[in-house]
Amino acid sequence: MVTLNHKRLKTDRNTRTMADPNFRTDFEPAYGQAVDIADNVQRITAPNKSAFTFHGTNTYIVGQQNIAIIDPGPADESHLASIQNAIEGRKVTHVIVTHTHIDHSPLAAQLKKLTGAQTWAEGPHRAARELHIGEINALDASGDKDFIPDNMVSHGQKIIGDGWELEALLTPGHTINHACFALIGTNYLFSGDHIMGWSTSIVAPPDGAMSDYMASLDIMIERDETVYFPGHGGRLEKAREFSRALKSHRKMRETAILSRIRKGDSTIGKIVSIIYKSTDPRLHGAAGLSVLAHIEDLMAKGLIKSDGPASIDGNYWA
Ligand SMILES: [Zn+2]
Repeated sequence: MVTLNHKRLKTDRNTRTMADPNFRTDFEPAYGQAVDIADNVQRITAPNKSAFTFHGTNTYIVGQQNIAIIDPGPADESHLASIQNAIEGRKVTHVIVTHTHIDHSPLAAQLKKLTGAQTWAEGPHRAARELHIGEINALDASGDKDFIPDNMVSHGQKIIGDGWELEALLTPGHTINHACFALIGTNYLFSGDHIMGWSTSIVAPPDGAMSDYMASLDIMIERDETVYFPGHGGRLEKAREFSRALKSHRKMRETAILSRIRKGDSTIGKIVSIIYKSTDPRLHGAAGLSVLAHIEDLMAKGLIKSDGPASIDGNYWA
């Protein structure tokens, strides 16, 4: 079983077209160091490199003396030590979490204990929909079920600190509780795993939902910020164009899946073997879940049918 504990799925570069986003993989993680990346913003990358987390999870520090930590990161003692080192002599007033995957939220508990800061996020970890009868959640191991935020943020809510203000933007899709945070008065936005420059985001049922994800892309496209600081990888410039390209990329995937089903490919395994044929086979499990996310959406739109609810081993026809 593939455990998608840090979820990202490499896009198949061999099927790239004009509409595809311009993914960038030139990133220097500088492990253990707080790197100044903008006024009032520092980044520390955790050493949890993997096929799903790229070079590791980015933890951000916002502010000067009284600071917010965005995405404390995985339960990793060396990363906690790096954060403690970076915040020495300063006061952490807010611990903010974009979503509850185990590579983003677990250190929130320890930081809260060490600093007394309150935690902020959309809500606890949960699936985007109820599980079907007999359904096993393949993503179960990737969720941090221990994290319960002190403050549950709503869409548009302002989080006000000393010399900085963040606006919470609820962006479900990657997880139901995913939120991005815009740094008010700047061109910057912390995009978590919703939009990243190095890869597409994994959207997989039951924890994620494609219809939510697409609507959350529109939220980003309609905003003014053009520089994103994502949960993994380097800063993303021209972020709105990139978000638009991600949207077309997903639409093309959807069209490709629908066309395979219309041609008689009735299983997810068959569809993955064709659409993702030049993708690393270790990522085929994740690819299957991504196809399932599209299938769930296509079924909801009435474009395809199955003999039961959408499932990884279901049979589909148009
Ligand atoms: Zn994630």
